[in-house]
Amino acid sequence: MKKHNFSAGPCILPQEVLLKASEAVIDFNNSGLSLIEISHRSKPFIEVMETASALALELLGLEGKGYKALFLQGGASTQFLMAAYNLLENKAGYLNTGTWAAKSIKEAKLFGEVVEVASSKDANYNYIPKGFSVPSDLDYFHCTSNNTIFGTQLKEFPTTSVPLVCDMSSDIFSRSLDFSKFDLIYAGAQKNMGPAGTTLVVIKEDVLGKVTRAIPSMLDYKNFIEKESMFNTPPVFAVYTSMLTLQWLKDLGGIAAIEKENEKKAQLMYSEIDLNPLFKGFAAKEDRSNMNATFNLVDESLKDTFDAMAKDAGMNGINGHRSVGGYRASMYNALPLSSVAALVEVMSELERKA
Ligand SMILES: *Cc1c(COP(=O)(O)O)cnc(C)c1O
Repeated sequence: MKKHNFSAGPCILPQEVLLKASEAVIDFNNSGLSLIEISHRSKPFIEVMETASALALELLGLEGKGYKALFLQGGASTQFLMAAYNLLENKAGYLNTGTWAAKSIKEAKLFGEVVEVASSKDANYNYIPKGFSVPSDLDYFHCTSNNTIFGTQLKEFPTTSVPLVCDMSSDIFSRSLDFSKFDLIYAGAQKNMGPAGTTLVVIKEDVLGKVTRAIPSMLDYKNFIEKESMFNTPPVFAVYTSMLTLQWLKDLGGIAAIEKENEKKAQLMYSEIDLNPLFKGFAAKEDRSNMNATFNLVDESLKDTFDAMAKDAGMNGINGHRSVGGYRASMYNALPLSSVAALVEVMSELERKA
């Protein structure tokens, strides 16, 4: 039985993408060779890389605006340090909205002064701090657009004169934003774009070249820009599968179209959380994520019953992260509305039974 896959990451991917990716592993474009056994310098693979990068910029509305899209390795976690390595000369500002944000702060401190501009750590990150101002003497300001673990999402981004850096790992390509406000965006592919193994980096070229330190080749954005993500062997399967997902998204009508679906899913999910007296939401209402809904049982003694019912109904990946407990339903782009409806049905069935 096909499961309803609410996994927080690696995430659900469209069936047609999985099918095409699996075909390419056996025989890539009728070449008699597998995608993963050909040279990354061969023409067919160079085309894959070019298409993937072009699609990323096109979907984000950033073509011809001085940005480059790169597919790198080391996960979003490497971007925590790579961003600072390349951009932090004196002082950077960070918004501390969760575990991933805190990790990015820890890495940046190795390279310069870090100002925590605001934090929601005092309330186990169940809200997004507001009303803060971003100092103007920073090398950059860093934020996390969606807090995967806690289920909060930035609905607005600060207006600032300093370069804006954003970890969009868990909501990139899920909602319309003015992406040209950002100077550096990064996202591990495995949350909303593809398999684990590659990280999308979208960078405005003019933010580079401002630090005086020497940068190791593998951590220098300039090298990957110059070599079009092929400074060393790229993760060919992850890039190809990401390309297929981006194509799927474009065919659906792009970010504006998927955003409508994502809103429907989130509305259905949160209305059940709010109306069903057996559950309570974790995140502050106004900051709720459309990607990761976090919620708990009011009465923990119902846990075994609910878990068994969810399992029987084919639910996968709804357990909350250990730092929040309870449940987390991740509703990434490829998750159909019918899966959310099925989960909501299990929740209301519990209410009828209890
Ligand atoms: C998962 C996640 C990360 C870490 O990604 P890796 O690719 O595993 O390093 C970073 N930031 C956010 C917001 C995430 O959701």
